[in-house]
Amino acid sequence: MPPVRFQAGDMVMGRWPGSNLYYEVKVLRYSVDTQLYTVIYKDGTELELKDADIKSLTGFRQGSGRSRSRSRSRSPARTRRSRSRSPARTSRRSSSHTTETRRDKLKDVLEVRLTPVPMSMVNNSNKEHEIKEENDMTEKAVQKVKEEPENQVSGRYNLRRRKDQGEERPFEAKGTVPVGFLAATQQTSKTTDLEFGGRIGVFFLLLLLPAVVLALLILCAQKDSSLLSFPHMLPPLDSLWDWQVFGITLLWLLFQAVLSLLPIGKVANGMPLKNGKTLKYRINGFYALLVSVVAIGAGVYNGLDLGYIHTHFLQFYTSALLVSFLLSIYLFVRSRSARDDERAPAGNSGYLLYDFFMGRELNPRIKDFDIKFFCEMRPGLIGWLVFNFAMLHSEMELQKLDAPSSAMLLVNAFQLFWVVDGLWHEEKLLTMMDIVHDGFGFMLAFGDLAWVPFTFTCQSYYLVSHPSDLSVFWIVAIILLYAIGYYVFRKANSEKFAFRKNPADPALSYLKTIPTATGKSLIASGLWGFVRHPNYLGDLLMALAWSLTCGFNHIIPYFYLIYLLILLVHREARDEHQCRKKYGVAWEQYCQAVPYRIFPRVY
Ligand code: NDP
Repeated sequence: MPPVRFQAGDMVMGRWPGSNLYYEVKVLRYSVDTQLYTVIYKDGTELELKDADIKSLTGFRQGSGRSRSRSRSRSPARTRRSRSRSPARTSRRSSSHTTETRRDKLKDVLEVRLTPVPMSMVNNSNKEHEIKEENDMTEKAVQKVKEEPENQVSGRYNLRRRKDQGEERPFEAKGTVPVGFLAATQQTSKTTDLEFGGRIGVFFLLLLLPAVVLALLILCAQKDSSLLSFPHMLPPLDSLWDWQVFGITLLWLLFQAVLSLLPIGKVANGMPLKNGKTLKYRINGFYALLVSVVAIGAGVYNGLDLGYIHTHFLQFYTSALLVSFLLSIYLFVRSRSARDDERAPAGNSGYLLYDFFMGRELNPRIKDFDIKFFCEMRPGLIGWLVFNFAMLHSEMELQKLDAPSSAMLLVNAFQLFWVVDGLWHEEKLLTMMDIVHDGFGFMLAFGDLAWVPFTFTCQSYYLVSHPSDLSVFWIVAIILLYAIGYYVFRKANSEKFAFRKNPADPALSYLKTIPTATGKSLIASGLWGFVRHPNYLGDLLMALAWSLTCGFNHIIPYFYLIYLLILLVHREARDEHQCRKKYGVAWEQYCQAVPYRIFPRVY
């Protein structure tokens, strides 16, 4: 074991994870188990660093001073490289020649120091505002650094401002990673912060989740769907497994995989990875849906019996379950050869079951085929629509109806719209936690391939044996609720996506934002100023709307709503934890400005 070089309270230089930037940090503690130091940055961000990422103050000043002056005088290319660090910064920098000159004045300031920032909310009044601010602040920078008393330096800090001020960057070693990328770049060498109740929690989830879906499907199909009338015996084996159904499931996956590889649709860049690179994604989910609709339509026209899906629904589920287990095993085995920078921050604890569940590799790919991205939106989501349509057909057949019930029609329409909307905005998935943060393991594989298509269909599956005709009043009320939910969901997600893509977009200048230490800002007005997760609120309102179509006789059709509530409350807590780590003081300030998480005045 290496000797413990630093003690709690020592001021040292800590490397910002994923980059070569060093900041002055205070050591809080050292863990003998993980051999990591917990340090706190001046903006309040706490991180765990390896011994190799920490340098003593004195050694660092001497070393950095030398290397800095050498590299400055020798390498003009260095300036070019630093300009391209962040796409959002390029135009500002290149257009600002005077900034460059002023920046040179700062070259004598060798000590890494963070500059205090007024933590009040700032208006995101677009690029010009930022250029002006940069120039003004750069002018003041030298003066400020010289004048600042030491005790002020330890106040509230924000690296964003520092960056905007020009040269007040921390020291850099060879090669750079754009500052804006740092949020997504967390140390992945070893996961110490276990989620879902750790090893024991995921062990139970591994058993519980598949069983819950099975129980749900059994109850949905029963005439009496009350929880109390759950059968004491499992269904016979032949109603749980069928090789033909398994074959159809594999064919469906293959069909969707082929569609996803077609060279149709734009190619989008994912979020920057730990190594600073970005992956490319073919965005053609919407086309895949259209082709699937045509294929199913042609099949039905030629005598394809959709009722087969209803009568073999349990077998479809067990097939999907087996596929997700096999896929997770494959992912786990292949992740053994994944490089450190290809690993997910959350799935590398070293505990077999935990990592199997969470997923060790962030973006497993076979050549250009991204397995996680494919599974997230295609087979499960499009399959969900096919199942819904099959249930509509079965309801008419079994209940001897000339037309589907109004409830079945609404459920089909709402969920069709939800999926079409998701696939239309498929690119936005690239900024989601699932893609950016979560590894691809059992949790997502099972979620995408088994949970989504078999629990999200619980209303339509239930309605086949419990048809419900709604009054006009109810229909209007439910549609209205759905419309409000959709508006909140879509506007919140689109606004955040657009802001993350181009924070200087003049079309977003009306937003109030809070700058953070990573270079990104947090939106703190509009829907994002109403609650901290307005997109979750919108999603829940939509889920409530389509659950209400099933009436109030049983709780089973509300399963999706209850699950979504638990998922989003838990997801919110996970995200909150990550954002607190990422953004430190700025996140605290956001929480103060927007105190409610999902439900205004409630939670
Ligand atoms: P969010 O869209 O809430 O993403 C959270 C991230 O957004 C944070 O980590 C942070 O990342 C950024 N962020 C948070 N607050 C702000 C702010 N004020 N300003 C700017 N950026 C902010 O969550 P998800 O990706 O989890 O979900 C996206 C959608 O998917 C939601 O609408 C959700 O309802 C839906 N969903 C639905 C599920 C279902 O089963 N039906 C399952 C999961 C999700 P950073 O700052 O790094 O950009």
